[in-house]
Amino acid sequence: RSCKLLSTLAKEDFGKFFESFDTVLTDCDGVLWMGENEVIDSANITLNKLQELGKKVFYVTNNSTKSRDDYVTKCARLGFKADKESIIGTSYLAASYLKNIEFNKKVYVIGSEGITKELDAVGISHSGIGRDVMSDTVVDHLKSGNFTLDPDVGAVIVGFDQHFSYPKMMKAASYLYNKDTLFIATNTDEQFPSSDFGVVIPGTGSIVAAVQTCSAREPIVMGKPNPTIKDVIAKTHNLDPARTLMIGDRCNTDILLGTRCGFATLLVLTGVTQIHEVREWEKSEDAELQKLVPDFYLDKLSDLLDLLP
Ligand code: PLP
Ligand code: CA
Repeated sequence: RSCKLLSTLAKEDFGKFFESFDTVLTDCDGVLWMGENEVIDSANITLNKLQELGKKVFYVTNNSTKSRDDYVTKCARLGFKADKESIIGTSYLAASYLKNIEFNKKVYVIGSEGITKELDAVGISHSGIGRDVMSDTVVDHLKSGNFTLDPDVGAVIVGFDQHFSYPKMMKAASYLYNKDTLFIATNTDEQFPSSDFGVVIPGTGSIVAAVQTCSAREPIVMGKPNPTIKDVIAKTHNLDPARTLMIGDRCNTDILLGTRCGFATLLVLTGVTQIHEVREWEKSEDAELQKLVPDFYLDKLSDLLDLLP
């Protein structure tokens, strides 16, 4: 497999490529925007143009800190046309998963309001979000009265939680000690490189790994690269994998999802994965690394604007 710069295709070949798909799944952070307020170049104009040209767009994000309603608001604020049905976030995926299996117990949540809003929307009660502060020692903590287990909890959801703490890990693992307790992770993104501050921000994957180690349990992971996302979209939209394009900035989530589902794949270099990494995977004999190689790449999404009909 080898990854081509999309803008180097001959006009006719680009035309064929463009006609080959009618559905677009796009990653959000690192492709469309960075953080809360910064649109990446003219990504909004580009994506709206794709929709005007008849492509159906889905926004697929591993970020669990917002609900679908929150994303509708964010998209509108940043100039992206998006309705609720076109947003596939991991907080929504986790809540729908539980709804579909007719889960009727409570959920212990390591995470934030993105998750609890989606649980509220399907009528599932929960506990856990916010600070859970540790006493000086575990023994003091257990005696403090702040550590109680609710017998009605039947699932643990782990998402992004800036208040993740030792007592939260203790609670999650204690619930998971019961093998009937479901263990759901929103996503396993390891970290966010933050060039602005010169620091590494631990991602949900780091929190999931802590709970996984402590509980000796394997989570069901909702987000990219889990290919069942395709089935969730197929419930409301006639999705033909052979006519679908996946756009992303992170190969081990976005591009791998695309490869697993049989979508065409486009990497943009405005986020996590750099092109030299792709060149290494191309040379590798390892079939798993080959799956990370996208069909095409662009420096940024808005480079598409010059190519579109
Ligand atoms: N999880 C969290 C908490 C994030 O802040 C982000 C990006 O901002 C992500 C996941 C990755 O989101 P995406 O899949 O849209 O790149
Ligand atoms: Ca991303």
